[in-house]
Amino acid sequence: MKKTLIITMAAITLFSCAEKPLKTPSIEEFNYKVEEFADLGILRYRVPDIEQLTTQQKELLYYLTEAALQGRDILYDQNGKYNLAIRRTLEAIYTTAADKSSEDFKALELYLKEVWVSNGIYHHYSGDKFTPHFSQSYFENAVKKVPVENLKLKGNQTVDALLAEITPIIFDPNFLTKKTNQAANEDLVLTSAGNYYDGVTQAEAEAFYAKIKDTTDLQPISYGLNSKLVKVNGEIKEDIYKVGGLYSASLEKVVYWLEKAAKVAENDAQKAAIEKLIEFNKTGDLKTFDTYAILWVKDLNSQIDFINGFTESYGDPLGMKASWESIVNFKNIEATKRTEIISNNAQWFEQNSPIDNQFRKEEVKGVSAKVITAAILAGDCYPTTPIGVNLPNSNWIRAAHGSKSVTIDNIVEAYDEAAKGNGFSKEFYWSDAEIALVEKYGTLTSNLHTDMHECLGHASGKLLAGVDPDALKAYGSTIEEGRADLFALYFLGDKKMVELGLLPDNEAFKAEYYSYFANGLLTQLTRIVPGNNIEEAHMRNRQLIANWVLEKSKDDRAVEIKVRDNEHFVVVNDYELLRTHIGELLALIQKIKSTGDFAAAQNLVENYGVKVDKAINEEIRDRYKELNIRPYKGFVNPIYTPIFDKKGKFLDLKIDYTEGYAEQHLRYSRDYSSL
Ligand code: ZN
Repeated sequence: MKKTLIITMAAITLFSCAEKPLKTPSIEEFNYKVEEFADLGILRYRVPDIEQLTTQQKELLYYLTEAALQGRDILYDQNGKYNLAIRRTLEAIYTTAADKSSEDFKALELYLKEVWVSNGIYHHYSGDKFTPHFSQSYFENAVKKVPVENLKLKGNQTVDALLAEITPIIFDPNFLTKKTNQAANEDLVLTSAGNYYDGVTQAEAEAFYAKIKDTTDLQPISYGLNSKLVKVNGEIKEDIYKVGGLYSASLEKVVYWLEKAAKVAENDAQKAAIEKLIEFNKTGDLKTFDTYAILWVKDLNSQIDFINGFTESYGDPLGMKASWESIVNFKNIEATKRTEIISNNAQWFEQNSPIDNQFRKEEVKGVSAKVITAAILAGDCYPTTPIGVNLPNSNWIRAAHGSKSVTIDNIVEAYDEAAKGNGFSKEFYWSDAEIALVEKYGTLTSNLHTDMHECLGHASGKLLAGVDPDALKAYGSTIEEGRADLFALYFLGDKKMVELGLLPDNEAFKAEYYSYFANGLLTQLTRIVPGNNIEEAHMRNRQLIANWVLEKSKDDRAVEIKVRDNEHFVVVNDYELLRTHIGELLALIQKIKSTGDFAAAQNLVENYGVKVDKAINEEIRDRYKELNIRPYKGFVNPIYTPIFDKKGKFLDLKIDYTEGYAEQHLRYSRDYSSL
């Protein structure tokens, strides 16, 4: 952090006053907090060192940020087929209502803010439908008062027809209640509101893909990744996302900006990757997508990098269809030295992993890891975002060509800075010793955990020959995330970390162990509405790990839960024993993954990762409420303004951090909406 400050200060002197260079505000002067509502705190993030990029890099960065923002509507539609109409209608009321002081209006404003956070009417994390706290009659009247041209009605749709379309989904609590249903023994496709299937049952969808999947292909495409499965006249077919296909209007604009980006690419490897992505957007051909993914994973010398397209499949109950997302970023060269040490030793970690030899990779290929600075978050990475990403997801590409893994440093910085002094550890950690431990080492060990989860964890192990990568179905994401977490946890406690200079001493890892178990067993429950189960894959995996190890510790008491003044706390009595249990679970989960053991995956996830103790759940939420901490964070992006000369030559990029939350979403809806 200090390093950034010094570099920034030095850079200023290089410019004359008249040129007004970009200047990243310091941590101290930066205002991270934007606003809070419901269970959300909205933050800003800095983009340190953007001023260090060359003019060409800034131009490239700008085009990629535009390509990123153009996909926003796609995600809304993927998250539910009524989302776009609902968002537009709410925004029209929000901006034109005469009375903005009524309780109903305020409730509508809150609902709209939640819709923006979640890119639709289902909670971004739990997948539960939001409850509107304004009445249906208020809503209907408000819609009728909006000037018709503001409603963006489709074709010759009437206002009444619009209302008939969207009021049941907003107000009927029993109609399509879940974005992605994971409940065992239900038709996950029919009961999920996600818009990846239409008129198709789970059995029909599974049969469709079973039929077209070539199980002898050692380099299988990612079946179903970029399409909606629909039934037309009784026939099931894929509606492909591509220029000229589904979502064409958005993808055309994405392509327009990618074409500009390709022209100013940093080098030929990057240019080839961008051009292949353009081709994929135009053809929708999944073989082309794999070629793109390989070109992208091999582009390691560029400083600027990006994700743009249909990427993660968490939103599909069958785990095949990908939601649209984008992150544009550049490498943090100083901090990347940390991850380079990790990736350079990937083979050592693989060889020393406590798993059965037959599931081990003989040779770990091309695991590259870097620390990045995000310049824009978009699609499924906005406004809530991951802090680490590892791609591509295709198993065979990862095995043959490696993967790229990133930790997003400036987002972590925003989280850390915004959390300072919020009283969390004092409330939830057992004693001063744990508080001091986490305070001293917590930022470092949690960053390392992210690095290792992404770079080593996801890249480790192998499937036995002939095992279907989708064999674990709805449990696949949880098992995979659990595997990556366990790998990171296990090795954080290894002396090798100190040897490599990644950790200062053999105490440091305890900070991550303690906070991980406190989170997995207790504090993450703040995100669960009492009475509900855990649905989200990462939350499931964290509880699964913590619960399984807690049960294993029954006799040796490596970790336990203690009650003091009617409040629950996690106490770790023996960190080395705890690590042994982590290793045992890693071996078990690797076996399940490698052999595609669906029954064992189901057993593990359902028994340890899903159910919640309602009383403890309520207690945790009360304690959070007392502290006034919102359990989720979302972000606003900076605004980028390019400066061109009279002939259209790119000169510089201005960055502005002052935009508000509602302001930003309304601007995006105005300038980046084509569906
Ligand atoms: Zn992961």
